[in-house]
Amino acid sequence: MTTAPEDFPTRATVLDTADPLRDYPSRFLGSEDPEIVAYLDGNSLGRPTRATADRLAAFVTEAWGGRLIRGWDEQWFDLPVRIGERIGASILGAAAGQTMIGDSTTVLLYKIARGALGLRPGRTEIVLDRDNFPTDRYLLEAIARELDLTLRWIEPEFTGGVTAQDVADAVSERTALVVLSHVAYRSGYLLDAPAICAATHDAGALLLLDLCHSAGAVEIELDSWGVDFAVGCTYKYLNGGPGAPAFAYVRTEHLADFTQPIWGWMGRESPFEMAQGYVPAQGIRRVISGTPAIIGMLPIEDTLDLIDEVGMAAVRTKSVALTEFALELVRSWLVPLGVSVSSPTDPDRRGGHVTIDHPQFKEITARLWQRGVIPDFRPPQGIRIGLSPLSTTYAEVLAGVAAIRDELTAR
Ligand SMILES: *Cc1c(COP(=O)(O)O)cnc(C)c1O
Repeated sequence: MTTAPEDFPTRATVLDTADPLRDYPSRFLGSEDPEIVAYLDGNSLGRPTRATADRLAAFVTEAWGGRLIRGWDEQWFDLPVRIGERIGASILGAAAGQTMIGDSTTVLLYKIARGALGLRPGRTEIVLDRDNFPTDRYLLEAIARELDLTLRWIEPEFTGGVTAQDVADAVSERTALVVLSHVAYRSGYLLDAPAICAATHDAGALLLLDLCHSAGAVEIELDSWGVDFAVGCTYKYLNGGPGAPAFAYVRTEHLADFTQPIWGWMGRESPFEMAQGYVPAQGIRRVISGTPAIIGMLPIEDTLDLIDEVGMAAVRTKSVALTEFALELVRSWLVPLGVSVSSPTDPDRRGGHVTIDHPQFKEITARLWQRGVIPDFRPPQGIRIGLSPLSTTYAEVLAGVAAIRDELTAR
């Protein structure tokens, strides 16, 4: 559908009114704050839910303040696996016993990649791509140095991402592990996970997916796709709060032989026996190292509650509609001003954000933040319009893109 530019405000109102998820933005704190005109960075730091404010306050007074050390036995010890399992069931398409939370994505990526490599002894290569998030690239550089392995780099197109053909061309009988982001952090490219999984397995290699930019925005079916390992953030679309612990998925068939390199007491069988010698805990607990960050993981449950009310299919439908609307506005208002679109135009290949490029975007982003329009800037010259499906309105998309247009024309 094409809309005359002057009709866009009406369109936004109609879309918001007809939105089956229209009641959800008000379930988040700050949604009524007049200073925030458009929050377009929920893919970097999701807003807190209102329920989280109550949950955290109650935890401090009742659970921590009231139960004290007894809280560990009563609840907290099992929380990394219990919330992990909920993440698995609600958004990852993962049966019980394969998902945990703990550490940061960076640290979990290291632990999972090292554990995965241990399952392919004698193989000497890791396949990765130049557009992956910096932490993923750096970690694999470190692991390659540590274990004397070779990195085989895929160079994706600027506005695209890694295809199954790219992976098929890169893997061989030397490949131990393929590490890719499900949704590319810059372009927003959504890769064809089942096809890439098949190409990886055809070479006898293992697939580790980084789900930071897809968890909570895109439908995911790790079990049925055959993915071996996954990690992801919880502070982006899952609204876990700054620095909330990450999650990791290890496919059941790999668990028995899986060992990660940070042998801590909390990942040991019967940790409170304080015994000599490390013996990994049964199941997914073996991914844990030290004492889990309990407070940090509580807010995730509030987002999972919201997602369970509506289901991931509805979340994805809204996400696609938001990015389609953003692209329509960009084409109509910004492309004539010299802006280019650096995200896939095919919604089936696009995650929950849209990246646009212009040489002035670095300065313009700073000015947008001053006027309460908050996207983020990604080098070399991209504005990333992140559209968290549960908390973002079409009116915000309209206001955000209009503000970018005004900044471009004001120059
Ligand atoms: C956000 C993000 C990370 C962040 O890792 P941290 O350890 O939480 O800093 C890692 N990978 C990808 C793809 C991301 O988008």
